[in-house]
Amino acid sequence: MEMDDQITVIKGVGEKTALSFGKLGIRTVGDLLEYYPRGYDVYDDLIPAASVAEGQTAAIEASPASGPRMKQVRNLKILSCRLRDGSGSVTAIWFNMPFLRNTLKMGTKYIFRGKVVRKNGILVMEQPAILSRQDFYNRLHVLQPVYPLTSGVTNNSIVKAVGTALKETGLGGDYLPLEIRKEYGLADYKTAVRQIHFPKDARSMLSARRRIVFDEFFLFTLALSQLKRQRAGKENLYRMKECRECREFLERLPYRLTDAQLKVWNEIREDMTGGHMMNRLIQGDVGSGKTVLAALALLLTALNGYQGTIMVPTEVLAGQHYETLSGLLEPFGVKTQLLVGSMTAREKRDACEQIKNHQVHVIVGTHALIQERVEYDNLALVITDEQHRFGVRQREALSDKGCDPHILVMSATPIPRTLAIILYGDLDISIIDELPVNRLPIKNCVVNTSYRPNAYRFIEKEVLAGHQAYVICPMVEESEAIEAENVIDYTEQLRESLSADIAVEYLHGRMKPREKNEIMERFFKGDIQVLVSTTVVEVGVNVPNATVIMIENAERFGLAQLHQLRGRVGRGKYQSYCILVSGSQGKDTMERLEILNHSNDGFYIAGEDLKLRGPGDLFGIRQSGMLEFKMADVFQDAEVLKDANEAAQQFADNDVKLLLKKYKNLHEKISIYTNDLIFL
Ligand code: ADP
Ligand code: MG
Repeated sequence: MEMDDQITVIKGVGEKTALSFGKLGIRTVGDLLEYYPRGYDVYDDLIPAASVAEGQTAAIEASPASGPRMKQVRNLKILSCRLRDGSGSVTAIWFNMPFLRNTLKMGTKYIFRGKVVRKNGILVMEQPAILSRQDFYNRLHVLQPVYPLTSGVTNNSIVKAVGTALKETGLGGDYLPLEIRKEYGLADYKTAVRQIHFPKDARSMLSARRRIVFDEFFLFTLALSQLKRQRAGKENLYRMKECRECREFLERLPYRLTDAQLKVWNEIREDMTGGHMMNRLIQGDVGSGKTVLAALALLLTALNGYQGTIMVPTEVLAGQHYETLSGLLEPFGVKTQLLVGSMTAREKRDACEQIKNHQVHVIVGTHALIQERVEYDNLALVITDEQHRFGVRQREALSDKGCDPHILVMSATPIPRTLAIILYGDLDISIIDELPVNRLPIKNCVVNTSYRPNAYRFIEKEVLAGHQAYVICPMVEESEAIEAENVIDYTEQLRESLSADIAVEYLHGRMKPREKNEIMERFFKGDIQVLVSTTVVEVGVNVPNATVIMIENAERFGLAQLHQLRGRVGRGKYQSYCILVSGSQGKDTMERLEILNHSNDGFYIAGEDLKLRGPGDLFGIRQSGMLEFKMADVFQDAEVLKDANEAAQQFADNDVKLLLKKYKNLHEKISIYTNDLIFL
């Protein structure tokens, strides 16, 4: 039996079972063997019937004390039977298994194993399995695999199929070089696969798991570094010439770039004018000034006769970037085009026409850029802003539009190194570790709701001084509609509390993109002084004249997110303030908010967030789908990830091609991973 064989070669797996297995993604023998248990069931020793406890999965050896009784409740047939042993008795119930009535004989001993629950005040064993002594003792103290199931597939059917497949498959050779296995103390592949399904004991199961997790990470990071090397080795197809306009651009700016910005700009320039294609991530805290670097890269691209695009996660941000970039680039004869989902079909058609005919040089937009069928004319640079909102795949999808353009991604989210390996393993990294000099540190305060009237007076004072303010209402998990309602109610109350000549408007996720854009534009121009909003404004919006952000129910947000929100102020030379209103005065909440109160440093805050919340839902990266492995967990298995990454690097330092040839299987595995990355 070979790994590539159809699942039906396994004895006992017919067409029907194969169909059901197919729903679980199991099509070949290899798929089946890589369908790992999600946990294990352990058979403990028999216990006396009298001592079963609620919640326990217990096994007893007992005999029916009377004939089983059947009850019909709606369409459910419930069979119940009292089971007795020397110690006492317990009732067992089965659903829709009427045939058991004839199986269970009074006075005969059986072994029953099932979960003990409390029903109407008494303990019952629910749906117990009935086992022969031999079956029971065979399984005793052995870890029994428990697989994720779907309708038509029982655990037993998988156990059987896996058992047969393991017996009849050679499992191929181990593609992981012996040196690496030795160095990292890893089980060999065959043993690992056997032991993950049917472990001898907990230790061998853990060792098997470690090997499998290692493999997943190893292959993944190897694939990424392959990708990186391929790209890095790729000849620069759009080799740009330096141009004096870039210098002029810098001279025209109302400020000087920080040293950190200059350093990163040099790295970008060297990439784009050098011998190889650019693949670069810029990481810089909120407000560190990433947009201007994007503008410079786009300017260089446009003046060299190419097109460049910048993709962002929200229309609000797209609209804003469009304004900023066209303002910065227009003086150099560079035309900017906006392309977002809410544009009318006609507007989009016109935009696409302009893009195709190269009447515009810089295209700013949302996902629409990828989704709509845009044809570029000589696309040489693709920038994605707020990268943490996208997965690698979306990134790739856009870069596939051109013929391998330069890639620049920008992110404000500081992420732990291990995560960076997974998310950005294929990129060079530049860090902006300095804020513009004109910035005053944001002043923070954490208050309770009784402080609201003071906060409103404070906002009035700032507005009177010519500034603007954000008020953030909490997100409502269950419903955008309730959330919208909250924002509208809040706005009405706020209008009443604030002096009548202050323009207060709101922004929420339910509004049409056009409405959102219009509000943002008015806020940007200063026609609106106070903007009440949900977290829509979180990503990247830049209104330097805003000096106050008041965050209601601050306790409901994660620290990293609060930091991003706070980053909406303190983006100019004016003293800015962040008022965190907490609905809870609990110790944990206050401790968390104190972290923000005392620090404005995103890297530090992310680290603290990680410590407090555990890595689980950090920045919602989980949802990106990027971090899904069959067995590995990026957070839980961070140590293995480090090892695997290190091993992959070592591996890469040797003559990769030769090695890949030698380990043909490995090569095949990698190309599966890389294909996934590139084309999905
Ligand atoms: P982010 O890194 O969060 O994307 P932006 O690029 O939006 O930040 O920049 C925030 C604000 O800082 C903008 O108004 C921008 O014009 C301004 N800015 C950028 N670089 C500098 C600098 N070197 N000195 C002063 N202000 C700057
Ligand atoms: Mg930004």
